[in-house]
Amino acid sequence: VSHRWAFVALLACACGGADGERDGRPDILLISVDTLRADHLGCYGYERDTSPALDGLAAEGVLFTTATSSTSWTLPAHASMFTGLPQSVHGLDRTTRVLADERATLAESLQRAGYHTLGAWSGPYLHPHFGLAQGFDDWVSCVGYDIAGEGQLHGKDRSAHRSSHEDITSPRLLAQVERWMNARDERPLFLFVHMWDVHYDFLPPAPYDSMFDPDYNGPIDGRDLSNLATALPPRDLEHLIALYDGEIRWTDHHIGAMLELVGEEAIVVVTSDHGEEFFEHGHFGHRRTLYEESIRVPLIIRAPGMAHAGRRAADLASVMDVAPTLLELAGASPLPETMGRSLVPAWTSSALDPVPLMSELYLRKAYTLALRTPGHKLILGEERELFDLQQDPGELRPLGAEAAPPLTTEAHAALLAELQRLARQHELPGAADAELPAQIDAELRKLGYIDDED
Ligand SMILES: [Zn+2]
Repeated sequence: VSHRWAFVALLACACGGADGERDGRPDILLISVDTLRADHLGCYGYERDTSPALDGLAAEGVLFTTATSSTSWTLPAHASMFTGLPQSVHGLDRTTRVLADERATLAESLQRAGYHTLGAWSGPYLHPHFGLAQGFDDWVSCVGYDIAGEGQLHGKDRSAHRSSHEDITSPRLLAQVERWMNARDERPLFLFVHMWDVHYDFLPPAPYDSMFDPDYNGPIDGRDLSNLATALPPRDLEHLIALYDGEIRWTDHHIGAMLELVGEEAIVVVTSDHGEEFFEHGHFGHRRTLYEESIRVPLIIRAPGMAHAGRRAADLASVMDVAPTLLELAGASPLPETMGRSLVPAWTSSALDPVPLMSELYLRKAYTLALRTPGHKLILGEERELFDLQQDPGELRPLGAEAAPPLTTEAHAALLAELQRLARQHELPGAADAELPAQIDAELRKLGYIDDED
């Protein structure tokens, strides 16, 4: 049976120790643009010119047309990106969890392979408290406000009391990448950059604030969006989306500058942790549902000399596949346990097996699971919803209860059974409980991420 769960068996790691062979190892830049919907990028067919730098990157690499996050919020999605594990296994399903030290991560494997591992983060869930810094030689805060002792920050634009949703971090991240490139030694670099500005609030600096809707005169200014509970009038919603698109273009500008800094030989992966809802299913924001607008993300992989330029791969891909793919491209040891898989066969052979993508959400003591096949999506939560994504890509017309789910193959059935078993476990393996430091808790509350039912 060929499916992701075949890989969860705790295989003994046969990897060796430090790898002294560093010559010729490519630098790696992994960019996670928080809250970036795939369908708002030019290279994914969007009508607005939001992403000239990413479009150029896609022309030099492989673009996965159907990439999905493991969930719809920041903390578990990044844990999946780094471990290749779903939320049910890494266990970071709520804010009081941290990634256990025992978990193997992408950065740890690259570090053992001789990489200098450097991360820069700019949103509260990437704070080292949560355990995602494992394996990084340096893990640099680029937030512009005081969070849990991270107050002494870089740059002249620091404002101690600005909170996370108003924070503008791309220039600080770019400056950090420049410092790293200037200070490099003989080791190949693994740079991870977590970009925050596309996340609400939507406050793109000029000229990006008026780039896509210059004639608007209404009340929407992109602020205080975490409590936006009721649908907006169409014209106001249009402007809100234009501001989101302005944030994407602003971020894309900085990504372009980072690509210049790392050079054309570097392996570059750009993806996101989740999308954003604009009332397609009655909500604004994320961490609410597992519909496509919440979990569909871009995934662009440029691997000079190793991947065909300009290829568009229709294989189903997950953020859980990022670590296995990068480790193969770097010639580093694979993660000893992972449910992601290397995407390299998507361009070296004809196609990958069409295993289903899974996404999970645990919210207010309720668990929701989504399984996506090439043509269908099954969501198991308070209700059971099955969608034909060819006929109904917006997931607005669930098929009737009589419709057979696309889980007819042995692999799909085994996947579903295993997920349900994991979901029933009260003590999720691999996660450690930890009380949230007060300043992180305060920032997450301002963002609307925490309420007392959390
Ligand atoms: Zn996020």
